Amino acid sequence: MDFALSEELEMIRDSAREYAERVLKPQAGSADAAEQFSVEVMQEAAEAGFMGLTVPEEFGGAGLGNLHAAVMLEEINRWDPSIGVTLSVHISLACNSLNKWGSDAAKAKYLPRLASGEIIGAYCLTEPQAGSDAAAVRTKAEKVDGGWKISGTKSWITTGEYAGLYVVYAVTDPDAPRGRNMGAFLIEREMDGVIVGKKELKLGLRASSTTEMIFENVFVPDENMLGVPGQGFKIALDTLDGGRIGIASQALGIHRACLEESIQYSKDRKQFGKPIGEFQGVAWKLADMATALEANRMLVHKAAWLRDLGQPCTKECSMAKLAASRACNVAAQDAVQIHGGAGYTKEFPVERHYRDARITEIYEGATDIQRLVISRHL
Ligand SMILES: Cc1cc2nc3c(=O)[nH]c(=O)nc-3n(C[C@H](O)[C@H](O)[C@H](O)COP(=O)(O)OP(=O)(O)OC[C@H]3O[C@@H](n4cnc5c(N)ncnc54)[C@H](O)[C@@H]3O)c2cc1C
Repeated sequence: MDFALSEELEMIRDSAREYAERVLKPQAGSADAAEQFSVEVMQEAAEAGFMGLTVPEEFGGAGLGNLHAAVMLEEINRWDPSIGVTLSVHISLACNSLNKWGSDAAKAKYLPRLASGEIIGAYCLTEPQAGSDAAAVRTKAEKVDGGWKISGTKSWITTGEYAGLYVVYAVTDPDAPRGRNMGAFLIEREMDGVIVGKKELKLGLRASSTTEMIFENVFVPDENMLGVPGQGFKIALDTLDGGRIGIASQALGIHRACLEESIQYSKDRKQFGKPIGEFQGVAWKLADMATALEANRMLVHKAAWLRDLGQPCTKECSMAKLAASRACNVAAQDAVQIHGGAGYTKEFPVERHYRDARITEIYEGATDIQRLVISRHL
């Protein structure tokens, strides 16, 4: 057993840290205030090789795994979870599912463009009536000559406005049993009938794009189906196992931001004649925050390691997401508390971390759904 990062993982961590401190740190606060997604910032992520991190080398990527992505995503989310979620969805929900389940033609057509950052990938599962109950999807896929016609409305789609390729889940056989009635389709932004719906105004992750997506009779050729008809829900769940590692890594990044900023503030701020960090009540909060971060990083890395080995890891991915997102929210609450009144203002970034932390317990399976998944494995 070896708990150290390999040389390769250290290199990924260092290059993500360099990018995050140089590009994300200066703009994260103002992008959040302006609620503006930045295509330029994503372009720099592509140039650094992050968008193609897990895409095989034959398609222009780095051919690395979930553990590499987890280490990279913690660094990105330390400074900017809006870019963090965009990258996580692109890598784990779009690139990885296309690479695992896509036809040779679709892989050759789209993976190089996704890896180079020419297009960003998005994932369209949720609908107004199908949130935690993802099998309740109503978007329809009707078989036609040479392909499928897709119609329906998807909710809360990350990068909806800016994506070039959407993985869309739709019912292929309304008479088939729940969970075995869906297909997964690759839809290009430029295809006829693709409409970007309303933009969501959010509590946090304000510089990420979240929109409704409407598909009106969109023709999709046969080779743009992932897997086979009826396999869509299985693909959605398998993909979400990997996605949960990404969101758990996001939680680690936000958690670390809360810890590092709280340590600094507790050294700088003096009350009763000494730095507040010298009061046991504050110091113990920091100790708990640091311990939870270390423990959860191990859960996340273990889940990623298992997935890279191709071993069953649904339970471990859910455990990592459950624990890291819960702890991240406790850390965000304590960070605001340690900053006192200053933590309640936009003068300090913990106010943003407190807002950003909330989503880690909601998307890609809310906290209750992770508990449901874990308990079913016990
Ligand atoms: C910023 C943002 C980005 C998103 N990006 C995407 C995206 O890119 N693609 C995509 O497809 N979706 C996306 N989503 C959707 C997200 O995955 C859903 O919001 C999430 O799955 C929860 O669904 P819901 O909002 O309908 O909540 P609901 O399912 O209505 O849940 C409401 C509450 O009920 C609880 N609950 C539900 N069922 C149970 C149960 N069986 N047992 C116990 N408690 C339960 C939940 O835990 C939650 O607390 C995004 C959402 C947001 C906010």
